Amino acid sequence: MADTDGPYPLAEPGLWVKRVGSRVFPANAPALFLDRDGTINVDTGYPDDPAKMALRDGIVPVIAAANRSGIPVVIVTNQSGIARGYFGWKEFAAVNGRVLELLADGNAFVDMVLACAYHDAGSGPLAVADHPMRKPNPGMLIEAQKRLYLDLKRSLIVGDKPADMEAGQRAGLSRGWLVDGEGSKEPGFEVLPLRGADDLDGLVGAIEALARI
Ligand SMILES: [Mg+2]
Repeated sequence: MADTDGPYPLAEPGLWVKRVGSRVFPANAPALFLDRDGTINVDTGYPDDPAKMALRDGIVPVIAAANRSGIPVVIVTNQSGIARGYFGWKEFAAVNGRVLELLADGNAFVDMVLACAYHDAGSGPLAVADHPMRKPNPGMLIEAQKRLYLDLKRSLIVGDKPADMEAGQRAGLSRGWLVDGEGSKEPGFEVLPLRGADDLDGLVGAIEALARI
């Protein structure tokens, strides 16, 4: 059952928003948005055990590039496992803390974490269909924009699902990288594939280019 005990940073019952660290960013900075499961860590399917968390290859240099470039790093993660009653915020906190710890071991740091627990398969206050905070809706990205004064148009998103790309597009971003996916291009939004070392280099280059504008 959904655990709502404890001092969790819940902006509302199904929305976790936590500023991590104390690095300060100028207004109108672009952000690097990242999905978590399947993008930063290997997706184990509704992960609830910190001991089982492992990072995906190649993600540490991407986040480190944003850190070096002064670009805020923001995790935006759907966590319907909470609405579904598979685990609670306590387990989310433990798993997420472990992911941040593994990144820090590689000198890669996240500046804000947003997690959405809403899903229509849930019960109680979390049982909301198509909640504006749940990707593919853009609510978490817009919430981060309000808190960090981001320039969404220049921001980038990396995810492993089309819903991640759609959330980015609907938030007004112009580019996203799809893990193990296909590239595509529409007016105003381009999806780039993230499959191998060359794609990772391209993403790092795009992050570094943002810092030079
Ligand atoms: Mg994912």
